[in-house]
Amino acid sequence: METRQFLEQGMGKIVGDGRLTMFWTQKWLDGKKLEEHVIQALPEEHATKRVRDYWSLVTGWDWRVLRQFLSSDILNRIASFELVQEDHEDQVTWVADKRGQFTIASAIRVIQCSSPMAETRWRTIWKLRLPHRIKFFLWLFSHQRLLTNCERVRRHIHSHSQCDICHEGEEALDHTFRTCPNARSTWYSMGSEGTRCIEKDASVHDWFQYNLNGHHRDAGWPEKFAIILWYIWKWRCKACFDNNADVPGDRGAFLVARIHDIRTAMEQGVYELTDTSTNLHMTWIKWTPPSAGWKVLNIDGAVMDTQGRVGAGGVIRDEAAKWIVGFSEYLGACSVLKAEVRALLRGLKIAQELGVTKLWIYTDSSTLISMITNPSTWKTEVSPLIHQCVQLLVWPGWETQVSHCFREINQVADKLAKLGLNMSLGVSIYREPPLEVQGALHDDSRGVLWPRMLKH
Ligand SMILES: [Zn+2]
Repeated sequence: METRQFLEQGMGKIVGDGRLTMFWTQKWLDGKKLEEHVIQALPEEHATKRVRDYWSLVTGWDWRVLRQFLSSDILNRIASFELVQEDHEDQVTWVADKRGQFTIASAIRVIQCSSPMAETRWRTIWKLRLPHRIKFFLWLFSHQRLLTNCERVRRHIHSHSQCDICHEGEEALDHTFRTCPNARSTWYSMGSEGTRCIEKDASVHDWFQYNLNGHHRDAGWPEKFAIILWYIWKWRCKACFDNNADVPGDRGAFLVARIHDIRTAMEQGVYELTDTSTNLHMTWIKWTPPSAGWKVLNIDGAVMDTQGRVGAGGVIRDEAAKWIVGFSEYLGACSVLKAEVRALLRGLKIAQELGVTKLWIYTDSSTLISMITNPSTWKTEVSPLIHQCVQLLVWPGWETQVSHCFREINQVADKLAKLGLNMSLGVSIYREPPLEVQGALHDDSRGVLWPRMLKH
């Protein structure tokens, strides 16, 4: 067989926002060309549709149309895909053919090997003693994924690229972090150290890399630099969307205090859980409400083994353990991991819409936790979704924390996910707790203790 033909046979698509992928003629779903699986002849006007054309940001897939042409098996598989909002282009990948000559694993290797630079950059960032949230912000910075106005225009989600603070230039990374008056006043507030930092003539990426590499006289400079960048971005977002609310008058004093707090917290291991011993011991665990001002989101995914049906669910409660909102969603057929990620994404969107300002998220999936804290562990099938979750987690409009919790104290979310298994496609929002979760909800609010074997 010709190489080209061979390649085309194995060529598939990983769908991000669905704009670049042909719905019927490209293999974006399980290596199938959907035109070969229609149950009724496809009218000509449909043949050239893209994946995006059957998707609405508000209501999801257009089941009314798709149902006419595809069997329920295939509809179930489609249901497990959620397109992301305009910020993740579809990628070409290879899908396994019948003889197994191309495998997903080899495709993943190709994608990962293609950017050794990205790998090194992540390692530099990963080594810094900073909360994950700031590390992720740095990662977005280094991958040109921060949504500055220039980036928004490139993604067709904004009409102008001018800076909204000074109106004196295009808001690209260089402007946002070095030349805009918002950035300059922050650097100047840090005294000569800050002023020196922006005198350098290098490109914004070289400048970024240089400052994080730790060749500086002050050994703590990379962390300091990162925290200053993070606040420049945070204050830029406040100025653009929030009329400067919460921007401190004395930026320098504020930053010095924050840098000190973060350093102390990292030294005391507040942000990191380390456990190297292998001895097990029995302990008691319980669900605890968040501290004052915080809301807590528990999420979970569920699978019905016999039929491969998958559901997602979650619940948001307040500091008094009071129910705020819950949701259940039927996702069709997909992996449990994908269900966990979908539950996280749905929960974040609902919380954001409610105007939550401090959100603590709990999941019992360690895989999900490691994906949130380290992009090198991202699984290809969920990477567009995880990317969207991360964008929401680092959104400067709120504080977020993500922690692992054990199954025993994630039962309300588990029951909501199981409710999703028996629904038809789509999401249900509960303003009041449904009957099925009331027992577990009551256990949580009373602080019922569960035995658990732990390492110590
Ligand atoms: Zn500006």
